[in-house]
Amino acid sequence: MLVFLPLIMALSDYILTFGQHLLEQHGERIHKIALNAGFTCPNRDGAKGIGGCTFCNNSSFNPGGREPDTLEAQLGSGRRAIAKRTRAKKYLAYFQAYTNTYADVAELNALYRQAMTRHDIVGLSVGTRPDCVSGAVLDLLAGYREEGRIVWLELGLQSAFDETLSRVNRGHGLKEYREVAVEARRRGIPLCAHLILGLPGEDESHYHASLDTVLDIGVDGLKLHPLHVVKHTVLANQWRRGEYRPLQRDEYIRHACDLIERTPEHIVFHRVTGTASKDILLAPEWCSQKWNVLNGIEQELKRRSHRQGCMAGTPRITVKQHKLEPPTPSSSPLSGGEPGTSPDSGRPGGVGVTGSNLVRRSSSVVTSAIPVNEEILDAA
Ligand code: SF4
Repeated sequence: MLVFLPLIMALSDYILTFGQHLLEQHGERIHKIALNAGFTCPNRDGAKGIGGCTFCNNSSFNPGGREPDTLEAQLGSGRRAIAKRTRAKKYLAYFQAYTNTYADVAELNALYRQAMTRHDIVGLSVGTRPDCVSGAVLDLLAGYREEGRIVWLELGLQSAFDETLSRVNRGHGLKEYREVAVEARRRGIPLCAHLILGLPGEDESHYHASLDTVLDIGVDGLKLHPLHVVKHTVLANQWRRGEYRPLQRDEYIRHACDLIERTPEHIVFHRVTGTASKDILLAPEWCSQKWNVLNGIEQELKRRSHRQGCMAGTPRITVKQHKLEPPTPSSSPLSGGEPGTSPDSGRPGGVGVTGSNLVRRSSSVVTSAIPVNEEILDAA
């Protein structure tokens, strides 16, 4: 007797995930171990700017704050954590926290090599800002590839719109990203771009344009993050004043799926959502539930019967122009309802699924607001 079992689909059936890519390329499971090497950020210490991105948690930079463990200790605890849920035997040292190229090249080389001392660390993924990657750093990374190591460069762009980057005090523009992206790929270094959905003043037209821009420049991987509000940030104050409304879960899922469909199938998705720990997350609450969002993205792609790349190259939405002005009492979440919930959210003409994330007073007038990233440490 034939028994028909239900077909169980996974996210990797719809998307080229980083894990799937590594498995296909290297024939075995390889996992990233996230590291904090004690870097800081030039957008805080005055080298590039002061105050940092408006969504970045300031307390993380307190001089008296928690010192990270040694790299060896972090790699050890990472191995143990991964071993509990997978049978992976090889790993990438993922320099994740803050700006991981913000040091002298000789110092970087010593640090990176220290992380790759053990034979099971088969490569690196280095997250950084586009304005903090010299030609010498790119040569260093390219040299590791020539030694047979896996190397990825992760650049936090977040948006291809300089106006948005200025609004969130990024301290760099698209120009810096373009220059490093071109130079990295010219050296054969795989490049992963980070994009945030839900930045203030942006809507889906901006998300599509940012994606198209990084695709046009040339990219090998993508990370998508929802902007969220964490404690002790400029964004938190703007959210409390009702000047910023985070995306709702269903909005994020819809926009993320739209971008996935538009992304050619050979590009690797390192991440399609992000999370923050509950002790610092203010809004939106759904950002604390990574698996819920991942399941939502999978279900939405299944519902559409679409997968990555099926809409690649299709015309994008024209970017709308939003006029900014201060919020009104009626638009403030503090004037009624739950924090972070705009009174007109979800209604036609309000900040619905096609609206920007600035609090909107009319169909064409919006007020200034601000954004946030996923793991705050992952958007340098
Ligand atoms: S998000 Fe990254 S670039 Fe921005 S201030 Fe924080 S560490 Fe610096």
